[in-house]
Amino acid sequence: MAFYVTTPIYYVNGEPHLGHAYSTMAADVVARHMRQRGEEVFFLTGTDEFGEPVAQQAEREGVTPRELGDRLAPRFKEMAARIDASNDFFIRTTDEGHMKRVQEVVQRVHDNGHVYEGTYEGWYCPRCADFKTESELGPGNTCPIHKIELTREQQQNWFFRLSAFQEPLERLYEERPDFVTPDFRRNEALAFIRQGLQDVSLSRPNLKWGVPVPWDPEQVIYVWFDALLNYYTALSYGREGEDLTATFWPAFHILAKDILKFHAVYWPAFLMAAGIEPPRGMFIHGYLLMGEHKMSKSLGNVLDPFQVIDRFGADALRYYCFREVSFGQDGSVSPAGFETRYETELANEYGNLASRTLAMIERYRDGTVPPAAVDAELAEDFEGAVPRFSELLDRVELSQALEDAWKLVRRLNRYVEESRPWDLAKDEADPERLDEVLYNLAEGLRVTTLLLAPYLPQTSERLLAALGEQGRGLADLGSRPGGQRIERLPPLFPKIEAPA
Ligand SMILES: [Zn+2]
Repeated sequence: MAFYVTTPIYYVNGEPHLGHAYSTMAADVVARHMRQRGEEVFFLTGTDEFGEPVAQQAEREGVTPRELGDRLAPRFKEMAARIDASNDFFIRTTDEGHMKRVQEVVQRVHDNGHVYEGTYEGWYCPRCADFKTESELGPGNTCPIHKIELTREQQQNWFFRLSAFQEPLERLYEERPDFVTPDFRRNEALAFIRQGLQDVSLSRPNLKWGVPVPWDPEQVIYVWFDALLNYYTALSYGREGEDLTATFWPAFHILAKDILKFHAVYWPAFLMAAGIEPPRGMFIHGYLLMGEHKMSKSLGNVLDPFQVIDRFGADALRYYCFREVSFGQDGSVSPAGFETRYETELANEYGNLASRTLAMIERYRDGTVPPAAVDAELAEDFEGAVPRFSELLDRVELSQALEDAWKLVRRLNRYVEESRPWDLAKDEADPERLDEVLYNLAEGLRVTTLLLAPYLPQTSERLLAALGEQGRGLADLGSRPGGQRIERLPPLFPKIEAPA
């Protein structure tokens, strides 16, 4: 089976920040998990480089939009690498392959009779690059997102007949109740559709920075359609010499709530208009909120993703974001909160469990996992963990899946405390019991670490190697008979020290 997952593409009108990292980390967890299940995965991220927000920022900086894109796109690419995103391709909407394909699809929508010429007048937010309907306006004709006063604008341009897709969209939502998740986002999108859809501009007449409308090169394609199409175009040139569209389309999208309408309403309608299958589904996440916070020992008072990664590694950041805030909801993050989770959970619970297990196997059994019987009580708590975990990740419930895996970490710590292997080792009165405890600890740690691998790719790689585990997939997770050689590791999550 093939699985195609995407992040939003990011506007190159500013530096990457935690919000961008969040979407990309989420898509990466899903991509890695699907690979572990043996799916053939394509994972896409990239940058959105056309349109007014980019042109305006370039003007403010006194550079051309292309120069701005050329400076910032590598920063986003670097961010993806720093957070350990395993993306298969990084798309830039200024890629020739993208632009060519966008024109082809837009031409198809035109040829299918869903485009007409007209005049549009409405409240326009230059930062959203979007007109607002009366019901969307904030007090005093402001943008509800950017809180800026909007001006009335009139445009002669090409329209996409979105209104014709109200029924097909309603049908799509009815037939596929999980098309948009979580449910409350689905309801939001459906309510927007049901209130009646107006046709939307497909082109902009006064802007030069964009993909030219193929039958009217004086106009450029409205940046939203050009941007959304990245999910589709990337497959046609994202892997050298191959067209992957037939293999991977339709895509599963991960995105933040501010771009819900475009993805859940405009996008499937536009695809239907072009005769292309709508997305497989999408998950809409909330915001990581950063308020005023007390200073932390090591990170000051701002949770800067690059700073966190420099000091603690990408795994710690990935873990924290999905652990602290229930994925899908808004929630607060802070440097102090990060340090608490890092110390109490990553270092004390998981890191210690790993060090203790490896150290005891080395000390008591010369570094070889002793073959022994499965502990029935412990096994009961692991029973069904993998299918449950997979089901949660099918629904992109990243926080719940992580919570489930963490319960296993805690269960194993309780197992250590209850079975007290150091006492068993004192007089070796019952060597078989000690074998059993060490074997079950190694097995439990191995299984838990395989589950955690999408969240903690670097840590899990080190730990699985130290446990002598060759497999990385979930299909051949099975159980090991013992006899593996283990290696000791320096602390996986070293103690926090205040900077000198
Ligand atoms: Zn706005």
